Amino acid sequence: MSDSVLTGGCQCGAIRFRVEGDLKDASVCHCRMCQKAFGGFYAPLVNTKGAKLVWTRGRPKHFASSNFVNRGFCADCGTPLTYEAPDGVALAIGAFDHPEKISPTMQFGIEGKLPYTDTIPSLPARLTADDIIAAPFLDKLVSYQHPDHDTDIWPVK
Ligand SMILES: [Zn+2]
Ligand SMILES: [Zn+2]
Repeated sequence: MSDSVLTGGCQCGAIRFRVEGDLKDASVCHCRMCQKAFGGFYAPLVNTKGAKLVWTRGRPKHFASSNFVNRGFCADCGTPLTYEAPDGVALAIGAFDHPEKISPTMQFGIEGKLPYTDTIPSLPARLTADDIIAAPFLDKLVSYQHPDHDTDIWPVK
């Protein structure tokens, strides 16, 4: 992840960001606060310390989850976007346009870890297309999700 420019944003596209420079300290946090803030089993986050974070469209709304930490999210669509502590801002890895470029190297908050997170890779697995017989609407589905790249105008009407 050296000398890189990475972009991302929320699901609806009201908020977009760009990060210039090296991203370090990618992690997942299993703590109960991160589970709630992401509505997930854990929070995938990457620190922006040492890099330059620019909000290129819109700004997150914030919830103070404690006296030290603000959680940024899109007020329009609810996508979790930031974890903002006194030592800097971390971004939600899944909000990046190419999250596959940011591999977690550390786990935090393991006292809150849900035990079944370890067995997920061994669960039965299917492709979305495999579900078309069970869910015929998938065949006619039109996505309103912002694409995984910057756009001049969004939404396109
Ligand atoms: Zn949004
Ligand atoms: Zn946490």
